[in-house]
Amino acid sequence: MLAAQYVRGGGIEVVEADPRRPGPGEVQIDVAYVGICGTDLHILHGAMDERVGARAVIGHETAGRVHAVGDGVTAWSVGDHVTVMPLEWCGTCPTCVAGHRHICDRLNFVGIDSTGALQEMWTLPQHLLVRLPAELSLRDAALVEPVAVAHHDVRRARLEPGQRAAVVGGGPVGLLIALVAAAQGAEVRVLETNPFRRSVIAALGIDVVDPVDIAALVEEWTGGAGAEVVFEVSGAQGGLDSAVDLVRARGRLVVVGIHAQRRELDLKRVFWKELEIVGARVYESQDFADAVASLAAGTIPVEALISKVVPLESAAEAFEILDLGGAVMKVLVDCGGAEPQ
Ligand SMILES: [Zn+2]
Ligand SMILES: [Zn+2]
Repeated sequence: MLAAQYVRGGGIEVVEADPRRPGPGEVQIDVAYVGICGTDLHILHGAMDERVGARAVIGHETAGRVHAVGDGVTAWSVGDHVTVMPLEWCGTCPTCVAGHRHICDRLNFVGIDSTGALQEMWTLPQHLLVRLPAELSLRDAALVEPVAVAHHDVRRARLEPGQRAAVVGGGPVGLLIALVAAAQGAEVRVLETNPFRRSVIAALGIDVVDPVDIAALVEEWTGGAGAEVVFEVSGAQGGLDSAVDLVRARGRLVVVGIHAQRRELDLKRVFWKELEIVGARVYESQDFADAVASLAAGTIPVEALISKVVPLESAAEAFEILDLGGAVMKVLVDCGGAEPQ
């Protein structure tokens, strides 16, 4: 079978590899589609070499079909449609014991810290699988993981119907947050500097603005009060500054973007406006269930989100397209497992 590997200093290589037979408690799936995201680009650029290693199959946004099951597996049968919640927690650290297993102190993020989905067949522990309903296509289901991120972010925000929510950064994650928040009855505005992304977002009926004058936006949109919830998705200092300017008194600033370096934050304004700062990282099982339901119900306009699908042989191209930025949202790799084999 083919597998796409990240090679330190060498980008993405597609190689011939032997599929691993499922051991006790494991399931082997025919991988249908794998979504490539910003985290995968970070890996490509060598920013996560300590976690990934010198040569590894990456990829963590996927859907497929059960191909074979190992000893002792009774919950899954050949042909079942599945996605993967790519988190392995230890179950014993203080964070796990407190009930927050998704942010376990020793979390193994599958597809980063261990072998991922970018291969024709993938063998993994059965407890990582999530069942998909028959009405959801495997192509659409490749978006379950990023949609689960959005559900988690919105849930962490404690957003209520009728509240205003600003999303700073209109890439795939920001757009999905906007869609999920709007579906839950929030009044949403996205701030995005890239004109292509603005056109995609506007075409979906979501209010989107170029963040040139935040004070004017706050005045026009909220009568000067600010938004109840602001999602910081840009990962940039400028985005954080805008987010603080946008949030109203007693509002919530939800930190979604990954700020790889320390940022400046005007704590006097946090004090003055009694702001809440909330971190939101990955997802819990509930968010995966909500994401599957959203996609199955057609709440997420998948066709507008998937910019391109490339075959596994050309996996490197998927990374290149995404890396160039510009006119692109989500890129999927077709690993061939969508049809029964
Ligand atoms: Zn991702
Ligand atoms: Zn733990």
